[in-house]
Amino acid sequence: MSWQRRLEEDDKRYVWHPFTQMKDYQEMEPVIIERGEGSYLIDIYGRRYLDGVSSLWVTIHGHRQKEIDRAIIEQVNKISHSTLLGLSNPPAIELAKRLVEITPQGLERVFYSDDGSTANEVALKMAFQYWQHKGYKRKTTFVSFKNAYHGDTLGAVSVGGIEVFHQSYRPLLFSVFHAEAPYCYRCPKGQTWPDCELECLRELEKILEEHHQEVAALIIEPLVQAAAGMITQPPGFLQRVRDICTRYGVLMIADEVAVGFGRTGRMFACEHEGVRPDIMVLAKGITGGYLPLAATLVTDQIYGVFLGEYHEFKTFFHGHTYTGNPLACAAALASLEVFEKKKTLEKLIPKIDLLTWRLEEFKDLPIVGEVRQKGFMVGVELVADKKTKEPFLPQDKIGIRVILEARKRGVIIRPLGDVIVIMPPLGISETELEELLEAIYQSIKTVTGEIGR
Ligand SMILES: *Cc1c(COP(=O)(O)O)cnc(C)c1O
Repeated sequence: MSWQRRLEEDDKRYVWHPFTQMKDYQEMEPVIIERGEGSYLIDIYGRRYLDGVSSLWVTIHGHRQKEIDRAIIEQVNKISHSTLLGLSNPPAIELAKRLVEITPQGLERVFYSDDGSTANEVALKMAFQYWQHKGYKRKTTFVSFKNAYHGDTLGAVSVGGIEVFHQSYRPLLFSVFHAEAPYCYRCPKGQTWPDCELECLRELEKILEEHHQEVAALIIEPLVQAAAGMITQPPGFLQRVRDICTRYGVLMIADEVAVGFGRTGRMFACEHEGVRPDIMVLAKGITGGYLPLAATLVTDQIYGVFLGEYHEFKTFFHGHTYTGNPLACAAALASLEVFEKKKTLEKLIPKIDLLTWRLEEFKDLPIVGEVRQKGFMVGVELVADKKTKEPFLPQDKIGIRVILEARKRGVIIRPLGDVIVIMPPLGISETELEELLEAIYQSIKTVTGEIGR
């Protein structure tokens, strides 16, 4: 048996893959990635694939980015891990300083954790405890949005709003207020933007009008509800949410796990509307897609409330074993340096335009209902009937069929239900981007033909 066959068998025998129906997986040809190079993934047979979703939205500059490789190796030669519980390390300190410099004004303190879910847990616990320490004992709940995704740990799931992912865990969760969120293609109010004047926000206002004394914080994915299917918010929505939070004395948590680090065309999504959240949550792209690391940033005001005498127990009793891991922090610092050195955001502008222009053609395909884009985040929603917007049946597995077609054309993408996600590394070249879009376009077209449209 070849070593490749052995790996394929062992993969199916021993590994339980996340967010994957393993019964289907057992019947599929696995793709086992052994190496990477820029925008490409290379499997154990040496086949090359364009990484169309940045290895689940994390790869920023590309794979094997030499500056980041080098930073990690240099750090390995010093130390790979020491704890941040009571001790410190240079990369964690330097990165905290850099993050405070580049994030919106007012965010002054950095609390590290390992991934988006844990960083959101930190945000929720901090917000809750902030009010407890201040004597507002009734402020014990949260407002989140319908269709929201903030991670898979139980606190993060409690503020989640995606039925298929979250509903079955309801009995385990704490209850929160789920406010209406904009999904303009399928507006729950049957309205059209901008005539609607953001009517969806009235529900949020109503919740806070009645319950602000019970609400510690609101949590939002700024500009794009990513996991829900790249649902983009109309301009002005985020700013209005900020104003409402301020008006009702509710902390605003911006979960920039997906949209942060250049994805929307700006370093952080909040910048588009000049919004300053009270708490900002970062993960995914923070290390350029190299290592698990996350950060929760807060204002000095929040931080200050946790200060007190040892015996007052105002300490933030939370921490993960690998908090502030020096290898991950060194990778993150190197990634930020590459942003500057390579002018990543400047060079992204023409690529975003190219993407917008090329996506126009997708809109004519008979099963494409809507194409949503914000910077380098794209969702192509496929529908059974373009006029009525009727979705496909889950049994149709339409998204999966498209991505398997794309795979044949040397492209790796992963759908969110019936939404085809396109999220290439920011460092992708224009030629590669065109290749990627052509392959995806052809894949949708082929599947359209197969189902007789
Ligand atoms: C992916 C994601 C998370 C969860 O991050 P993990 O690193 O997978 O735990 C949280 N919030 C948003 C907006 C995300 O896209």
